[in-house]
Amino acid sequence: MSDKKRRLIIVSNRLPLSLKKVDGGSFESSLSSGGLVTALSGISSSTNVRWFGWPGTNIEDEEERKAAQQSLAEKDAVGIFLDEKLAHQHYNEFSNGIAWPILHYQSGVGFNEDAWKAYQRVNEIFADTVAASIEDGDLVWVHDYHLLLFPAYLRERLKNAGREKCPIGFTLHTPFPAEDFWRALPVQKDLLAGVLACDLVGFHTDEYKRNFVECCARGLEAAIDGDDIVYKGRRAHTGTFIVGINPQKFTDGLLGREVQARVEELEDMYRRKTVILGVDRLDYTKGLVQKLQGYEHFLAQHPDLRGQVTLIQVAIPSREGVKEYQDLEREISGLVGKINGEYSTPEGSPIVYMHHSVRFTDLTALYRIADICLITSPRDGMNLVAAENVACQKGRYGVLVLSELAGAAAFMGKGSITFNPASAQQLSDAIYEAASMGAEEKKERYEQLEDFVTTNTSAKWGETFTKTLSNFA
Ligand code: UDP
Repeated sequence: MSDKKRRLIIVSNRLPLSLKKVDGGSFESSLSSGGLVTALSGISSSTNVRWFGWPGTNIEDEEERKAAQQSLAEKDAVGIFLDEKLAHQHYNEFSNGIAWPILHYQSGVGFNEDAWKAYQRVNEIFADTVAASIEDGDLVWVHDYHLLLFPAYLRERLKNAGREKCPIGFTLHTPFPAEDFWRALPVQKDLLAGVLACDLVGFHTDEYKRNFVECCARGLEAAIDGDDIVYKGRRAHTGTFIVGINPQKFTDGLLGREVQARVEELEDMYRRKTVILGVDRLDYTKGLVQKLQGYEHFLAQHPDLRGQVTLIQVAIPSREGVKEYQDLEREISGLVGKINGEYSTPEGSPIVYMHHSVRFTDLTALYRIADICLITSPRDGMNLVAAENVACQKGRYGVLVLSELAGAAAFMGKGSITFNPASAQQLSDAIYEAASMGAEEKKERYEQLEDFVTTNTSAKWGETFTKTLSNFA
């Protein structure tokens, strides 16, 4: 490359920024932390990053929009504003109501033509906006299931503008299901063809990649050439890119005074207990119902351990505009009430349930004091909580009890206790095994996990993906 910095265009449904109106009609935008944001930290010295996405709020007034856009531009971001109804249909109805459940093997998902039209329209709007500011040589990195059609729309616009030297990469952050499941979706071929306009398509695990390749071979009759999919004269390369965390953020966090004080407080409070920790978005893909049922089974089977364990469950509110999520929240709080009602004593309750986000200080302290981290996802693209917990357990060697169906199990299965969350018995046995594990075995397992987490960081993921993508320039 010349000494001019390469430009990397990131496109995701939501910008990693929050916009706040301040006095005098202007706006302030602050960057939120997240996997992708830290992934980019490793490449910012060689690359200028520009981020496109919905800014999380709808602004009707032209002047206000301009002011908001100006504030976003200061953070190298471009807001794509959407009409409220269109955004709702795209995000809640199609992306989270149809695509998300199919990608996670939920059966009985209905189809909705209007939501599909909105999905197409939003993908077009994104493509129009991005195409208008792309230059030859830019790398484009598109993220996730909200934008499966976007690569084809963008490619078409770039072709019409005579700008064909822009590699497009895509990362799917969810699982990709097996072909016989995926083809139940009436618009599956359009979605596959949308993604195949990319040069590089990244998945979290080899299994998801294989499923995608198989879907393209059968559904689109695309030719498969090793890891390449050849379709309509274009070649899309597929690969597995391990998304990680920034472990340093947690190890540094643990050195902070506030976190240390919190750790001491919590340790004191739970001195005589085995703490089982759950941190999940309130989503059916996290298996919270299965977790509670399995835990209830454990309490029923081990009366001697009842007063000695506590499940601390953080359930982060999520997609509260979707009916299934509202129903799920009611089911979960009902189950928590039932189990606590049955097994609480004057000394305490078996479950501490928090249906709200927790501050980073509390999160880190909870990860630190947990004896067991329990992940019960029946399907999960990766699951970063598993890695975050490991990052906070140095020298303490807490046990990771991990669903064999979470993407993370493909890499962290060896150092953890794996089980199938559909079986309350397997879950109960896994908790028991973790609670009674000897110090030496804990240490041995932990070291394998630590090695994985410190080697496969988010910065490495960002670097590897963008480096591979730049080979297509
Ligand atoms: N997390 C959060 N708010 C909280 C507690 C945790 O945002 O109150 C974070 C957590 O640190 C983790 C993310 O939520 O980084 C969950 O990521 P994961 O990959 O496990 O699941 P996802 O929500 O992406 O499906």
